[in-house]
Amino acid sequence: MTAPMTSQMTAQNIDGIALSKQLRAEVTQRTLALKARGITPGLAVILVGEDPASQVYVRNKVKACEDSGLHSVFEKYEATLSQADLLARIAALNADKTIHGILVQMPLPKHIDPHAVIEAIAASKDVDGYSTLSAGELMTGAPGFNPCTPFGCMKLIESTGINLRGKHAVVIGRSNTVGKPMALMLLAAHATVTICHSATDNIKQHTLQADVVVAAVGRRNVLTADMVKPGAIVIDVGMNRDDNGKLCGDVDFAAIKEVASYITPVPGGVGPMTITMLLVNTLNSAERSAM
Ligand code: NAP
Repeated sequence: MTAPMTSQMTAQNIDGIALSKQLRAEVTQRTLALKARGITPGLAVILVGEDPASQVYVRNKVKACEDSGLHSVFEKYEATLSQADLLARIAALNADKTIHGILVQMPLPKHIDPHAVIEAIAASKDVDGYSTLSAGELMTGAPGFNPCTPFGCMKLIESTGINLRGKHAVVIGRSNTVGKPMALMLLAAHATVTICHSATDNIKQHTLQADVVVAAVGRRNVLTADMVKPGAIVIDVGMNRDDNGKLCGDVDFAAIKEVASYITPVPGGVGPMTITMLLVNTLNSAERSAM
């Protein structure tokens, strides 16, 4: 998928479902090759409590593993589970040789410290890439696990065929799980990076300079067409509901499509890529364990 970054065009959709399918087919092939060597990549998913959205997310993650031939273990606990008991389960999974990735679904009940939980996961199994060690590896360019959502965004940008070297990228949002790692990945790809957040004055002044905009806020219409440079690539991470209760992103998709060169839809853009990159991270971990 390549096209020049020019003005006066209707943007092409970057299809996260199609790219996901392609990457998952590669995961399946690599999994088969690893199984032939006697190793089945394994992911453990832990859910504590009854949060309805979390239940959907973990179900999708477990199903994606099964569809690609990975081994998955799903552990569901009552919201009353103590932090000590959760840490003990993580310690057992850290020692389990059939498990190459451990994911604890967030948010956790209030009495459990998410940082203590994330840091308890063995560095070699931190497939969400949320630990301070994984963050440090990303920051220093050491090999490690990239957080799945920004990792997926990078694959979507790569699929356009446009080289990021020397391009100006603006990330809106600075969370530890999306905005900050996104900025570091863009920097590693030799983009010049600006990070905007809730205290940024005049975000438009920054986005109008951007060849790539990644919106990761969680608020509708954070990015409107008048804020986008003609020909820019727009990646929409946001997940919101419109007035009719329909899933939508952070960007004004219909209007920006007339200005940008490439744009990700919501749904069907970043969302499918997040789980795909979780599979990739788990597989990479299993391959590393086989070396
Ligand atoms: P988050 O932790 O709430 O962070 C939101 C960020 O947006 C913060 O850095 C905040 O700035 C910034 N922000 C808030 N209002 C703003 C404004 N008016 N202008 C500019 N920046 C503003 O959220 P997150 O976890 O990063 O997620 C962001 C969105 O992506 C959410 O909609 C989430 O559901 C979605 N998401 C989607 C996927 C997927 O797979 N599709 C995965 C993860 C997240 P401050 O730091 O200054 O408060």
